[in-house]
Amino acid sequence: MTDQRIPIKTCPVCSVAMVAEKSNKDAPRHDTFNCLRCGCIISITPSEPDSGDD
Ligand SMILES: [Zn+2]
Repeated sequence: MTDQRIPIKTCPVCSVAMVAEKSNKDAPRHDTFNCLRCGCIISITPSEPDSGDD
């Protein structure tokens, strides 16, 4: 069973599911999202507080 959960993000431009990637291969989690449709790239700061409730 995989414990690694990949977050899903949708493109703010065309609302399609973006592809999650890691900016560094050593990154603990996916922090970059690419839209294959329009090429939009979103980066998430790794220091983002994880409150758990959203
Ligand atoms: Zn897009």
